[in-house]
Amino acid sequence: MSTEYKEPAPYKRGEANPFESMMVRFDKAAELCKLDEGLYNYLKYPVKQVIVSIPVMMDSGKLEVFEGYRVIHDNILGPSKGGIRYAPDVDLDEVKALASWMTWKCAIANIPYGGAKGGVKCDPSKLSKLELEKITRRYTANMLDVFGPDTDIPAPDMNTDEQVMAWIMDTYSMHKRNTVTGVVTGKPIVIGGSRGRREATGRGVMIATLSALKKMEINPEDTTCVVQGFGNVGSVSADLLHKQGVKIVAISDVSGGYYNPNGIHVQEAIDYVAKHKNLAGGNFGDKVSNEELLELPCDILVPAAKEDQISAHNAGNIKAKLIVEGANGPTSADADQILRDKQIMVIPDILANSGGVIVSYFEWVQDRIGYFWEEDDVNNRLNRMMREAFENVYSTALKYDTTLRLGAYVYAIEKVAEVLKLRGIYG
Ligand code: GLU
Repeated sequence: MSTEYKEPAPYKRGEANPFESMMVRFDKAAELCKLDEGLYNYLKYPVKQVIVSIPVMMDSGKLEVFEGYRVIHDNILGPSKGGIRYAPDVDLDEVKALASWMTWKCAIANIPYGGAKGGVKCDPSKLSKLELEKITRRYTANMLDVFGPDTDIPAPDMNTDEQVMAWIMDTYSMHKRNTVTGVVTGKPIVIGGSRGRREATGRGVMIATLSALKKMEINPEDTTCVVQGFGNVGSVSADLLHKQGVKIVAISDVSGGYYNPNGIHVQEAIDYVAKHKNLAGGNFGDKVSNEELLELPCDILVPAAKEDQISAHNAGNIKAKLIVEGANGPTSADADQILRDKQIMVIPDILANSGGVIVSYFEWVQDRIGYFWEEDDVNNRLNRMMREAFENVYSTALKYDTTLRLGAYVYAIEKVAEVLKLRGIYG
């Protein structure tokens, strides 16, 4: 079979190709679980890749054209699911990797979805609200045949929020001539969003961390934690971990980081960011760069910023005992073995940050039945599903004598392959 593992070319930090990073792990996992060659080829490539051009009349009166993507990796377990990111450097390769990760993430979480991802190449920091709305509506209009509550369901991702989801829902509904709340998740609560969705990814990070600490027989109250990224995922993770007794000793965002071995006042940092947009100019501890931050002494490291922050370049210097991947793809493939040799437990992204898509699933269910749950119901169900997912990945890793990352891939691949075999190939 063609799943032979090859070492990836040495990457410089931040330059790894996310699709290759994903494929290296997929290949290794496929080898471990002896995936049939035909199924390997089926699962390797996305079923659909759509590129659209998005003409927008800018506030200046100038016409600009943006490029938008939606990649459906598969729809084996159900309609495809995954966020949409707006960023100047987003490209098809990144979206392809992120779409496959969604497949594995949904399979691990035991929710009935395939994987997808979307993106628009633009710089939201340079766009007015009206320009952002126009891009979103035209992107949605161009994707009318792709999106749908039974076919493909977008959600927020990097630089997209509840407002963007509301515009997507409205544009889709206008074309369909009725309100279709279930076409997108991560909406504001008043228009069919779910309680607890905004905090869900960070809450999931906290639950996964507690599950791992229990296996390691470490009391959360005896631990220190460094969080890279202070957006929705990083800030909620820091806050909820702090509430479990974990001491947060460093935080950072695009503007840089702060280290305080006595503990950072997380709520103050959250209030500061609400007022000033980011951490720049704050007084939370000694200033450190984002690179230095990753190498600080701590027990738990939560990379919740961007892809490829941990690579062969710096993995050897990491002091944490546990890494919990709040971001998608924060560790490039060339770091995996180094971290394993250092006996650092890594809870992989496709497990650690699955709280977001789990509560997206709850939102979609609530939209479909038209009955909305209390926040406690959402959080309790999330807690149960995350813990179950952790146990499934943990026991698969033990069974195959491998890392949690490869355990997660194997669990997901075996599940998707089983369903694919049962459904069979049409044609
Ligand atoms: N963008 C989030 C993720 O990467 C959420 C996706 C969703 O809720 O569909 O998991």
